[in-house]
Amino acid sequence: MLLSPGLHRIGNDIVAAHLIATDEGITLIDAGLPGHYADLRRELAVMGRPATDIRGIVLTHGDSDHIGFAERLRRELGVPVHIGAADADRAKGAKPPATPRGPMRIRPMAGFLAYAARKGAVRIPPLNEVRPVADGDVLDLPGAPRIIGMPGHSPGSIAVHVPSVRAVFVGDELTTRHVLTGVTGPQPAPFTDDQARSSASLESLRGLDVEWVLPGHGAPWRSGVDALIAAYRSAEARAR
Ligand SMILES: [Zn+2]
Repeated sequence: MLLSPGLHRIGNDIVAAHLIATDEGITLIDAGLPGHYADLRRELAVMGRPATDIRGIVLTHGDSDHIGFAERLRRELGVPVHIGAADADRAKGAKPPATPRGPMRIRPMAGFLAYAARKGAVRIPPLNEVRPVADGDVLDLPGAPRIIGMPGHSPGSIAVHVPSVRAVFVGDELTTRHVLTGVTGPQPAPFTDDQARSSASLESLRGLDVEWVLPGHGAPWRSGVDALIAAYRSAEARAR
């Protein structure tokens, strides 16, 4: 689905991935679940672009619901896959640490699990090869994505700022729809390794002039970064 010129989304508020399209080609931000490959092909068809236009994938982190079809594109089309250095092992199949079990509600949780199963979450191929990126890097990919280190959700979590589409992709450093409770609005994301660190990382977004804040789970946020952080802080306070 087209969000704005050059900015596309596949998936939905349960799990989303994004495309940046320019005359130079296409950059993917995250790769959803394996079954989102079909959604990607459909989106490309609507855009009238071949899959060979995809120049690279940038993964916001190494969790399984973000690496979905990345290995497939790497293997079949030689698409390079970029990820924060500290998450490289996780994308290659290392098990993430167990995180404390937060709040959940049956219906949204069952909805998430059913959707994930339908999209192939049962078997997610790990990456065989990744290119590590670091805070401050500007990648030589369509849209010139700039990497913002955001450790917390995982050690190698990053946000990706793409000025040409006035967007920042925040992965699971925050969510606007908690997959386990269905509660909407900016808030801490579940399955976070280090919540205090994640919360502190959010300040790295401060001052970004963007129209779109795009999390891996939940609706796009359109009200700017300062309002986002304020809403997150209130949610955080409510949870205490
Ligand atoms: Zn996720």
